[in-house]
Amino acid sequence: MSEQVIYINGEFVGKEDAKISVYDHGFLYGDGVFEGIRSYNGNVFRLEEHLGRLYDSAKSVMLEIPHTVEEMTTLVVETLRRNKLKDAYIRLVVSRGIGNLGLDPFSCAKPNVIVIAEPLSIFPKALYETGIEIVSVASRRSRSDVLSPKVKSLNYMNNILVKIEANLAGVSEALMLNDQGYVAEGSADNIFIVRNNKLLTPPGYVGALEGITRNAIMEVAAEKGYDVQEGVFTRHDVYVADEVFLTGTAAEVIAVVKVDGRVIGKGTPGPVTNDLLCSFRQLVQEDGVKVYGEQLNVV
Ligand code: PMP
Repeated sequence: MSEQVIYINGEFVGKEDAKISVYDHGFLYGDGVFEGIRSYNGNVFRLEEHLGRLYDSAKSVMLEIPHTVEEMTTLVVETLRRNKLKDAYIRLVVSRGIGNLGLDPFSCAKPNVIVIAEPLSIFPKALYETGIEIVSVASRRSRSDVLSPKVKSLNYMNNILVKIEANLAGVSEALMLNDQGYVAEGSADNIFIVRNNKLLTPPGYVGALEGITRNAIMEVAAEKGYDVQEGVFTRHDVYVADEVFLTGTAAEVIAVVKVDGRVIGKGTPGPVTNDLLCSFRQLVQEDGVKVYGEQLNVV
């Protein structure tokens, strides 16, 4: 028996007992929404923003989360406390719930709410020093007017297909283009390019999720005096950039040093990427909802 406890529909149970029905539409159809959140040293980074995105995603797909934002905040904090975690990855899932075999979401009586918190399995430290290689793949980001990338739904098949292609090419992350060939994002990260100290990242309508890390990096970069903008760009702009990096809750800020065989800049993480990673790591230590401090009393 592991000692890990998972929140599932009103109770905390051991990992082995955290089970849901095969009739859950999250399982049958990917019908549901989720968030990946991170806590650093007992501070949950940008929890409000993550919950904001979760509730927006749920509203968009007409899924009513059976908790207030305050209750959800408490659930996240409580899950961390019960697992005695300070540095953790938190997965919040709200699935449509148990229904019949038909697609109709209204056959589902009530959503399933799950909170999992685990110690972090961080990318190997060496990768932040060397940077990573990525390749562009044939699978395209589904059009943002068909399935909005802003909805963080349980339907991740698009991203999974992209990941498979990257893995088959021998790298761990992909450069995903949209249906018009413009750069959208990675399989689970946002992308930035840097040229002449100017930062550019694709806007949501190109097919990028509005990443919480992306937004934090845009803020940090602006505060530090960098010119940072949303803009549409192609693979060519990536190839000739001085620096390229990816952002995400799991990836934080990670340099990309080779794209489709083209060496980026000097082939090592560049000064802007390193500067922003450093500021980001400082920010996450200070910012956030305190799990063990006085900021939030949930006991
Ligand atoms: N794009 C996609 C498709 C993702 O799944 C993620 C991870 N949530 C990101 C970007 C990065 O977003 P965030 O910084 O909020 O983790």
